[in-house]
Amino acid sequence: MSETLVRPHDRAARFDAIVVGAGFAGMYMLHRLRVSGFTARVLEAGGDVGGTWYWNRYPGARCDVESLEYSYSFCPEITREWSWSERYAAQPEILRYAGYVADRLNLREDIRFGTRVTGAVYDEDDGCWTVTTEHGAPLRARFLITAVGCLSAANVPDLPGLGSFEGRWYHTGRWPHEGVDFTGERVAVVGTGSSGIQLIPAVAEQAAHVTVFQRTPNFSTPAVNGPLDPARERWFKDNRDALARRARTSPGGFLIEYGERSALEVSPEERLAEFERRWSRGGVGFLAAFSDLLLSEEANRTAADFVRDKIRSIVTDRATAERLVPTGYSIGLKRLCLDTGYYAVYNRPDVTLVDLRETPITEIVPNGIRTAGETFDVDAVVFATGYDAITGALLAMDIRGRGGRRLRDAWAAGPSSYLGLMSAGFPNLFTITGPGSPSVLTNMIVSIEQHVEWIAACLADLERAFGPRALIEAEAGAEAAWMDHVRELAEFTLYGRAESWYSGANIAGKPRTFLPYAGGVGNYRAMCDRVAARGYEGFLRTALPEGA
Ligand code: FAD
Ligand code: NAP
Repeated sequence: MSETLVRPHDRAARFDAIVVGAGFAGMYMLHRLRVSGFTARVLEAGGDVGGTWYWNRYPGARCDVESLEYSYSFCPEITREWSWSERYAAQPEILRYAGYVADRLNLREDIRFGTRVTGAVYDEDDGCWTVTTEHGAPLRARFLITAVGCLSAANVPDLPGLGSFEGRWYHTGRWPHEGVDFTGERVAVVGTGSSGIQLIPAVAEQAAHVTVFQRTPNFSTPAVNGPLDPARERWFKDNRDALARRARTSPGGFLIEYGERSALEVSPEERLAEFERRWSRGGVGFLAAFSDLLLSEEANRTAADFVRDKIRSIVTDRATAERLVPTGYSIGLKRLCLDTGYYAVYNRPDVTLVDLRETPITEIVPNGIRTAGETFDVDAVVFATGYDAITGALLAMDIRGRGGRRLRDAWAAGPSSYLGLMSAGFPNLFTITGPGSPSVLTNMIVSIEQHVEWIAACLADLERAFGPRALIEAEAGAEAAWMDHVRELAEFTLYGRAESWYSGANIAGKPRTFLPYAGGVGNYRAMCDRVAARGYEGFLRTALPEGA
C-alpha cells in the first residue's frame, strides 16, 4: 500500500483496550485486563502512577478513609506485605503504596507516562477507537476505558489580575514535586473545602502569617489521626476478605457503624452522647450516627447544631467563630471534612480569617489580594478551590462516538450514562466511576474495585459470546431510566437540595445536575450484578458484521 493511502490510524499501535489514567482505577483496570488475556496500554498525563496522590502533594494532604480501608482488597499478597504507619496515611505514604503496587504487579511496563489524551474517535467501520495524545502517534483499541478521576481537573478561579501577581501561586491539586517552603512568608489560602482544611494548619506551622479567604464555611470533624494500632492491623489483615465483603455491601463502602435509629426517636441526652462518642472517635462515622441524617432536615439539624456548638467551643474569638459556623445549610451534603487542628488554628495570632461573603475578592494585585474591604499583602497564594468534578477530566478530552457525535454535545445539558458506566452512542467506551455511579459519595477504592471488576467480567463475557468483533453499548431507554433513578434518589435524600460540586454548582456555566448515585454502594453493586446476570439488560451487545 502506498504511504499516501494509509490513513493515520492504520499505522497506529493497536491494543484490545486503552485505559486513560494511572490512578488507583487505571492501575487496577490494567491488572484485570491482563489477567483476562487482553492487550492493554494505559496513557497517563503525570510522570508516575498514583493519580490524586501523585498530584496532591500539598502540606497536610492525607486520606479521609482509614488507610487500612483505603487500600486494594483484591490481592492477598498486597494486603499481607503492605503496612500503613498511621490511621489516616499522609500523601507521601499513599503515593509509595501506589508505587509499590505498580512494582508488585509490574504495571509500569504497560503505562505510557507524560502522555495526555486529547481526544478519541470511534470508527464505525471497524468498531475501534483511535486515541490521540498531546505527543506521539495515535493509538487504536477496541475498548476505551476512562480512569481519569472524579477530582483531577483542577479549578483555578478566574480572578482578575492573577497574571500580575508578583509572588508565587499554587493549586492544591497541582502541587510542585520539589515541595514549597513557606518559612517566614505571608501566605493567602483561598478555599475552605477538604483540601484547605487539611492544608491551613500545616501551612500555619511554617508561615509567618496565614490569611484564609473563606467563601462558604464548611463542616469539619476531627480525624483523630495517630499511629496505626498493630493489633487493629493484624485483625484487619486476618479478616480482609470478610471486611471487604462488608464494605462492598454497605451504604458508603466504609467499615463504620451505621446507626439504625432515627436521630429524632432518641432523647436529646442520648443523641448528644452518640454524637460526642463519634466526635471523639473521629472519622466519617460521625454522619452515620443515625439513619436519617441525610434524609431529614430536622434530623440533620441535630448533627449540624452539634458541630456548630463544637466550633464555638474551640474558637476563642467570638466574631471569628461565628464566621466559621456554617449556617443555612445541612451537614454532609458536601463530603464531610476531616481535620487535624483546623478550628483551633484560628486561635493563633498569626492566622486571620477573611469572610468573602462580607468582603469579596475584587482582584489580585502584584503584591497580594484585594477585597472589597482592604488589600492583603502576601508572598504566596494557595488556591484550595477544588475541581471541575466528575465530568471535568472526561470532557476535557474530545471524545466522538457514533456519527462523530461529541460527548461534550451529548452531555451539554448534563451527563447521561447508564449505571455511570456507558453512554448511548459511544460503543465500547467505559467510564470508571462515571457520572451516575456512587463514586465520590463513597470510599472510592471500594467503588473503583467494583467498577473495574464489573467491566473486566463484562468484556470477558462479551468476547465469549460475540468474539473479537464484539460491541457493547448502552440502550438509550435504559440510560434515561437510570438517570431518572439517580435524580429521584438525589431528591429522596437531602443531597438534591444542596449547592455543591456534587451538582456542578462550583463551576460557572456547568449544567446543574446531581452527579453521583446516592443509593449506596451495596444497592448499586446488586443492581450492576443483576444487570449482568440478566444478559446485560439495558445494554445492546452484538458483533460487528464480517467484512465491515
Ligand atoms: P485519579 O487518582 O484522579 O487518577 C486519574 C488519573 O488520570 C490522573 O493521574 C490524571 O493525571 C489522569 N488523567 C486525567 N485526564 C487525563 C488525560 N486526558 N490523559 C491522560 N491522563 C489523564 N477518596 C476517598 O475515597 N478517600 C479519600 O481519603 C480521598 N482523599 C482525597 C484527597 C484529595 C486531595 C483528593 C483530590 C481526592 C481524594 N479522594 C479520596 C478521591 C480520590 O480522587 C479517589 O479516592 C481516587 O484516588 C481516585 O482514583 P482514580 O484512579 O479514579 O482517579
Ligand atoms: P472543594 O470542596 O470544592 O472546596 C473548594 C473551596 O474553594 C470551597 O471552600 C469554595 O467555596 C472555595 N472556592 C472555590 N472557588 C472560589 C473562588 N472563586 N473564590 C473563593 N473561594 C472559592 O474542593 P477541595 O477542598 O479540593 O475538595 C474536593 C473534594 O476532594 C472533597 O470534597 C473530597 O471529596 C476530596 N478531598 C478529600 C480530602 C481528604 O480529606 N482526604 C482532601 C482533599 C480533597 P464555596 O464552597 O463557596 O464554593
